[in-house]
Amino acid sequence: MIVIIGGGLAGLAASYALTEKGEEVILFERGGELGGVTSSYHIDGYRIEEYYHHIFEGDREIQRLIGDLGLEDKLDWRKATTGYFVDGEVHPLNTPLEILRYPYLSLMDKAKLALLVLRSKTIGDVSDLDDVTAKEWILENAGSSVYENFFQPLLQGKFGDDMDQVSAAWLLGRVKIRSNRTTQGEKLGYLRGGFWQLIDVMAKQIEENGGKIHTNSDVQKIVTKNGFVKGVKVKELIDCDKVISTVPPSILAKILDTSLEELRDIQYQGTTCALFALKKSLMNVYWLNIKADVPFGAIIEHTNFVPLSDYREHLIYVVSYFHDPNDPGWQRSKGEIIDWYLDGLSSMFPHFNRDDVIWTRLTRSLQTAPIYEVGYRKKILPYSTSIEGLYLAGMFSMANYPERSMNGSIKAGFRCAEDVMEV
Ligand SMILES: Cc1cc2nc3c(=O)[nH]c(=O)nc-3n(C[C@H](O)[C@H](O)[C@H](O)COP(=O)(O)OP(=O)(O)OC[C@H]3O[C@@H](n4cnc5c(N)ncnc54)[C@H](O)[C@@H]3O)c2cc1C
Repeated sequence: MIVIIGGGLAGLAASYALTEKGEEVILFERGGELGGVTSSYHIDGYRIEEYYHHIFEGDREIQRLIGDLGLEDKLDWRKATTGYFVDGEVHPLNTPLEILRYPYLSLMDKAKLALLVLRSKTIGDVSDLDDVTAKEWILENAGSSVYENFFQPLLQGKFGDDMDQVSAAWLLGRVKIRSNRTTQGEKLGYLRGGFWQLIDVMAKQIEENGGKIHTNSDVQKIVTKNGFVKGVKVKELIDCDKVISTVPPSILAKILDTSLEELRDIQYQGTTCALFALKKSLMNVYWLNIKADVPFGAIIEHTNFVPLSDYREHLIYVVSYFHDPNDPGWQRSKGEIIDWYLDGLSSMFPHFNRDDVIWTRLTRSLQTAPIYEVGYRKKILPYSTSIEGLYLAGMFSMANYPERSMNGSIKAGFRCAEDVMEV
């Protein structure tokens, strides 16, 4: 029997692949629902992801899975507009004309930025840039003005104090996946109705295949003996000879009853993400990066991407990232953060009125992405480990390098299942 720890996309994908081949699988998820980081709120009449989600054209594995599960009709590719908030104004940055009009980069800087983007697309293997910081690479390839006026606020918003440690490999990975760009802007994919459907249909298929899924089931121990997996302790001890763990390395280190030589100290980033339903639209783009003194790094107006008629109210994510658990985004109460964010929105948008807020939600977690700092590649965890029967798949896997995604975790789950079945 194979035990899967974690009911996020990696755990579900591994369970799906294994049960499709007739393997006996039992999945344990600590939370009350499946989905992990891709979980959704239940709102009256619809569901919506707790953290904003979309996919890129190059995300092949998730598109294949969506097709296999019969959900391809729901996958919609839509124009996703972006902008940059600087000096009290939203500057859309989608069409060549909008980019030309952007006042905070000179014509020369814009040319350097365009060349940097073109150059990044010609670099095949980004892992050579794992030991170079993004800052060094941008300074060398586009100069200090492009760095200070364009990239630095973005890196600051995404990584805070860790921004100078982030590798050029991560940056290039980000730039390269943004390839579905037309002269009208970029197209991104969304599963109309929500990504919960992918999770739901996959879970049903696993159960139809004979797999077992248990939510509210915290795995407390992975039990080994003489280098072999022997079982897991949930409420009681369950015998098994194979375990796929999809939990972050720091959790694995706590639940594994022995040491694992491959386990590295991978630093994770936390995320605090509010979702506001508003009576009115807030801005004229989907994704807004921000250079301003506010407690968040980006605003994502979901209903400027997916039609408003799917939801009947305007949905706006407000997001900040942190590393230090002492960060106010983690320490303050949820109510305090909502107030803080709403104050931030008021300071940015004079037309924003708190009376237009219909409801608010807030989700936060300490471990939402590895920090892709220089040298990260050496820390990537293998699918098969030196403990016989212990396998790993998740955000820390090769499939999620140099950036984690739903696609990467699905790919990691599938890849890990292959290793399990090879034995
Ligand atoms: C703000 C934000 C925005 C994002 N936007 C996008 C996007 O637009 N596009 C995209 O592709 N990706 C996006 N992602 C990333 C994507 O959601 C994740 O990379 C992916 O869902 C991770 O899946 P996973 O299964 O590897 O990990 P997780 O979802 O973290 O799953 C691990 C599971 O293990 C469970 N668990 C932990 N410990 C135990 C235990 N002891 N016993 C049992 N269960 C346990 C957890 O509860 C969790 O459900 C975003 C992430 C964030 C945070």
